Amino acid sequence: MPRGIAKSDLPSKPCARCGRPFTWRKKWARDWDQVKYCSDACRAARQSDKQSPEGGAR
Ligand SMILES: [Zn+2]
Repeated sequence: MPRGIAKSDLPSKPCARCGRPFTWRKKWARDWDQVKYCSDACRAARQSDKQSPEGGAR
């Protein structure tokens, strides 16, 4: 039985943009499965990288 999650036990995964591992953050608690980038910068860079006509307000 887990005794609670220590800070050092927080989940982490590699950023889909820069490849560097990043750690779970409380603000991602509800979206962790959908979070793919370590930061807004990576996410923004990813969007500007891909010149897709779908890139819009969403
Ligand atoms: Zn990144």
